[in-house]
Amino acid sequence: MAEVLVYVDHVDGAVRKPTLELLTLARRIGEPVAVHLGAGADTAAPVLAQHGAVKVLTADAPEFAEYLVAPKVDALQAAYDAVSPAAVLLPSSAEGKEIAARLAVRIGSGIITDAVDLEAGDEGPVATQSVFAASFTTKSRVSKGTPVITVKPNSAAPEAAPAAGTVEQLAVTVAESSKGTKIVSRTPRESTGRPELTEAAIVVSGGRGVNGAENFPVIEALADSLGAAVGASRAAVDAGWYPHTNQVGQTGKSVSPQLYIAAGISGAIQHRAGMQTSKTIVAINKDAEAPIFDLVDYGVVGDLFDVVPALTDEVKSRKG
Ligand SMILES: Cc1cc2nc3c(=O)[nH]c(=O)nc-3n(C[C@H](O)[C@H](O)[C@H](O)COP(=O)(O)OP(=O)(O)OC[C@H]3O[C@@H](n4cnc5c(N)ncnc54)[C@H](O)[C@@H]3O)c2cc1C
Repeated sequence: MAEVLVYVDHVDGAVRKPTLELLTLARRIGEPVAVHLGAGADTAAPVLAQHGAVKVLTADAPEFAEYLVAPKVDALQAAYDAVSPAAVLLPSSAEGKEIAARLAVRIGSGIITDAVDLEAGDEGPVATQSVFAASFTTKSRVSKGTPVITVKPNSAAPEAAPAAGTVEQLAVTVAESSKGTKIVSRTPRESTGRPELTEAAIVVSGGRGVNGAENFPVIEALADSLGAAVGASRAAVDAGWYPHTNQVGQTGKSVSPQLYIAAGISGAIQHRAGMQTSKTIVAINKDAEAPIFDLVDYGVVGDLFDVVPALTDEVKSRKG
């Protein structure tokens, strides 16, 4: 069976959920071979094996941390040369997409980004994408070279499928030309204790209807009761009520959670572009004519300051 390279996104060996989703999707196409770069391979390997990796190729080099993505591309290319895979899958993060694009150029392959599903096809893997502000769903496949595909978080539920997960060292030579951009400092982002917006299974977002930074704790309380990330519309961000890092939409982040709750958000096309592929959408808006109600699974016409706290209390009481 053909092998499929899966680029592992991790923090010191703690494998992030989108990688487990990639392994699940990779098994539809062939045998997943995980590529783990940097420290922590010992921690990561059993988790990767548990989710279907037949092999784990590992490499650690100081250059991975000292420079921007190019040394990682060197390593992924070394894995590609060693395996000759049927496809290369990466998470659709900013870094994942940059590595994917550079690899595709180097190996002369076509690339598909932001896939939301993946299936095997007679002439190679077929990727589903949601395009033009999620107005269309397309299916496409790479027609040149080995498909390089980035997949959005939450596109598949990770499934356990124990495999050998044999750990092998990958020989990597970092090219001089890959050392063009050195990282000179790092500042850890202040942790909110909430899941990462683009990876969260549940997102609760607030818009202009929240009417002030001082009211965002209402949204945060519902998010925390559900273990969700907090998002915001551009109107709320532009007003300075919530950080830009939490903006959902065309000029913010693209999310695709199992559940998206929009409170006090009208549903402008630019907001929809960032959340329309969510599996279940719930809106709370006091205007029954708000366009957001055109795309929801469940809608509540009401004042968010009544509905959201009541919902939070109900969630908490059911968790009991
Ligand atoms: C190039 C470009 C890029 C853009 N990118 C983005 C983007 O990435 N993300 C984004 O979100 N927008 C983006 N926008 C802006 C977008 O067009 C809208 O202006 C914005 O999404 C509106 O935000 P909103 O829904 O919070 O505010 P509004 O459209 O003002 O809607 C507020 C809603 O809250 C409701 N409401 C008010 N009070 C309450 C209450 N107490 N209880 C319940 N409901 C209440 C109102 O009925 C209304 O429907 C972009 C625009 C442009 C031109």
